[in-house]
Amino acid sequence: MDQAIQNPLLGLQLPELASLVEEFGQPSYRARQLFEALYSQRVESAEQISTLPQDFRRSLTERGFYVGLPGIEKRFVSSDGTVRYLVACADGQSVETVWMPEGDGGEAGDGTEAGNQAELAGRTWDRATICVSSQVGCAVDCQFCLTALLGIKRNLTAGEIVGQVCAVLNHQKVSPPHARVNLVFMGMGEPFLNYDNFIKAVRLLVEGVGIPESRMTVSTAGIVPRIYDLGAEAVRPKLAISLNASNDTLRTRLMPINRKWNLEKLISAARDFPLRNREKLTFEYVLLDEVNDAAENARELAELIRGVRAKVNLIALNPGTGIDFRTPAQPRVLQFQNILMTAGVPVFVRRPRGRDIYAACGQLKRTVEITPAS
Ligand code: SAH
Repeated sequence: MDQAIQNPLLGLQLPELASLVEEFGQPSYRARQLFEALYSQRVESAEQISTLPQDFRRSLTERGFYVGLPGIEKRFVSSDGTVRYLVACADGQSVETVWMPEGDGGEAGDGTEAGNQAELAGRTWDRATICVSSQVGCAVDCQFCLTALLGIKRNLTAGEIVGQVCAVLNHQKVSPPHARVNLVFMGMGEPFLNYDNFIKAVRLLVEGVGIPESRMTVSTAGIVPRIYDLGAEAVRPKLAISLNASNDTLRTRLMPINRKWNLEKLISAARDFPLRNREKLTFEYVLLDEVNDAAENARELAELIRGVRAKVNLIALNPGTGIDFRTPAQPRVLQFQNILMTAGVPVFVRRPRGRDIYAACGQLKRTVEITPAS
């Protein structure tokens, strides 16, 4: 059992599979077969890899190698079609992964509406977004986020990050690139505090699972050195930065990490980020009633990001027990949006997804006190 826990196949790259295959005295083309089975077919057990000879499958299992696809422990379905999965890791920890049919997390104003009961009605979506976790819990301590209340338990491995996506795709019975699937690394945790596993997972998701990097976005609370690292990657998702405040005093109060990397450093990193053709940065801004949502904050924000090729996503606070902030009323949200628009900043108000099942931004804390879907 112990040995099995040490040898999951999911998370291994092609060269690692090549050495494994060699160790077993198998021809080198078996590495590609394993890679395809793990990431493209998304098999659940070594026995299912029908391209491999029986005896090789058996000796893999005997030596403690197993696929390592995380299990789905529970599942909650929202009235807006969003599904929140509680995904179980091998050591008993669990993380949350969110499936959002049709739409990319809800940029209201783009004319789309959530396909109601998408899951029940069959495939009524034409695209879907999976929101992926990078850590169990989070160390960053943003004052408005429920995940922060869990603290940090541990990093996820690359295999566990990829595994979340594979488990959800299997459950939804869809396969990229045929199905249009977007990924956002915006679940539990701070991806840039688990950078190596995160970027390894990205490569496997692009090369193995078949999701183009242009359909992936990673969001950071502002770990500045890793923003530079991401900019230097050959294969990388788009970048979103959780700004959430228009000046340092306010940002330090809401996001203590601002003491380490303040707005000057963060915005410099954003300005230096090597954008590709037609690519834009995203700044996320959670609106907290009468804290950071005044007209003055909107003007200050427009000034702060002037000249950066970016759009702003406004998120009205998703409330939760233990969070001492209120959600602003819609007129305040629209006023904030209007000021940015007038200043020439592309700005969208994100439609909350799955609030009724605690699946929306900032609500991921493994809530189980609601009835799971059967
Ligand atoms: N740690 C990364 C990834 C999480 S992304 C990051 O901070 O960017 C989650 C997004 O949801 C962030 O933009 C965050 O600012 C936002 N968020 C956190 N708590 C929220 C809440 N209660 N309501 C709305 N948005 C929230």
